Amino acid sequence: MDLSDSPKEAEFRARARRWLEANAPRGLKDRGFALAIDERTVRILTDWQRRLYDAGFLGINWPKEYGGQGLTLIESAIFNEEMARVRAPAPLNELGLSMGAPTILEHGTEAQKKRFIPKILSCEEIWCQGFSEPGSGSDLAALATRAVIDGDHFIINGQKVWTSLGHLADWCMLLVRTDPDAPKHRGISYILVDMHSPGVKVAPLRQMTGEAEFNQMFFDDVRVPRENLLGPLNGGWGVALTTLMNERATLSLATVMRFRNVFEDLAELARRAIASGGCPVSPAVARQTLAQFYVDVESMKYLAYRNFSRLVRGGTPGPEGSISKLLWSELNQRMNEFALTLAGPRAALGEGSPHAIDDGRWQYGLLRSRGNTIEEGTSEVQRSIIAERLLGLPKGY
Ligand SMILES: Cc1cc2nc3c(=O)[nH]c(=O)nc-3n(C[C@H](O)[C@H](O)[C@H](O)COP(=O)(O)OP(=O)(O)OC[C@H]3O[C@@H](n4cnc5c(N)ncnc54)[C@H](O)[C@@H]3O)c2cc1C
Repeated sequence: MDLSDSPKEAEFRARARRWLEANAPRGLKDRGFALAIDERTVRILTDWQRRLYDAGFLGINWPKEYGGQGLTLIESAIFNEEMARVRAPAPLNELGLSMGAPTILEHGTEAQKKRFIPKILSCEEIWCQGFSEPGSGSDLAALATRAVIDGDHFIINGQKVWTSLGHLADWCMLLVRTDPDAPKHRGISYILVDMHSPGVKVAPLRQMTGEAEFNQMFFDDVRVPRENLLGPLNGGWGVALTTLMNERATLSLATVMRFRNVFEDLAELARRAIASGGCPVSPAVARQTLAQFYVDVESMKYLAYRNFSRLVRGGTPGPEGSISKLLWSELNQRMNEFALTLAGPRAALGEGSPHAIDDGRWQYGLLRSRGNTIEEGTSEVQRSIIAERLLGLPKGY
């Protein structure tokens, strides 16, 4: 596939670049792959999403009748690349945009698409993903939250955990068990739940960074209209796979450019450490380590291109996303670890200390990156997907 811009795409790229350079918010701290939680950042990113939407740069390849721009996946990818180039932050409703909307577009009724997609785009309604439970993370199909039909409603009882942005969300992509007697993958339904419904309780969980991006959620006799069922009753597993494949795939394209930026910052940090005369590793070791990171980022780029050309030819995100997920999450940990090696004794100093390197960015990055190999499916689970579904190896036990 020819990945160079056509004249029309080059014109779109130039327009996007001009707009982003003039409008991207400045002065936000680099939080890597963390989600916004403090009040100021939430405000800035809400405003940022609305401006992206008003300027016609959100839902670029989604149908116009639901608020999208009706352009192609290629223009969408160009815009993501340009966003990363100017280091613009992701809009606030990241989960709604990357997972909720693509799932509704694929499985929703006409009424659901018209009801939900425009408000995801305009940031009027923030979304969270209620999949994991205390007893079902990797083995997601073991989930126990129950929904029972009562006339025109489902009545939901149960508990979810690790729900990112649950405390800000207006809506939740919720997986529930609707047939406890069916084999576990066949008794699940996917329901869109209004987080303001009576009986929904959200309690924050603190991470090792000190922040609380995610939450526990409790559902106590929560009534949800039956029209909020997404896809078939008891057929929610197939719908959930769409969400999971989008979760792992959408990250990969824009992520490559973000890793290039991190690579450049890391090379600059190494230069500073060597010039200071106090670098804890020799220049040769620094060069070798950086060269390996460069190779890793380049391989990510070609993987992203391969996945992307498959999508452009009409495919849907598939298990290939597991390779990218594994690569970026483990690379992020290694890059942050190396930054702290370069920092020497100052690695112990975090944000706010006058002697911290880059105001504690790398220290925060290392702590936050531990979660990267757990969220969206752990590295062990990704390796099993690659082994079984891509390499065709026998199923493990
Ligand atoms: C920062 C962060 C944000 C998150 N956000 C959300 C969210 O918004 N919504 C949501 O629903 N969930 C979210 N999660 C939850 C995440 O999806 C789960 O933590 C993840 O799927 C792992 O499940 P678990 O924590 O129950 O661990 P477990 O499944 O109990 O796994 C424990 C360990 O056993 C290993 N293991 C388990 N099964 C196997 C197997 N078959 N083969 C080999 N090894 C195995 C795992 O790799 C892991 O090392 C988030 C998690 C994090 C860290």
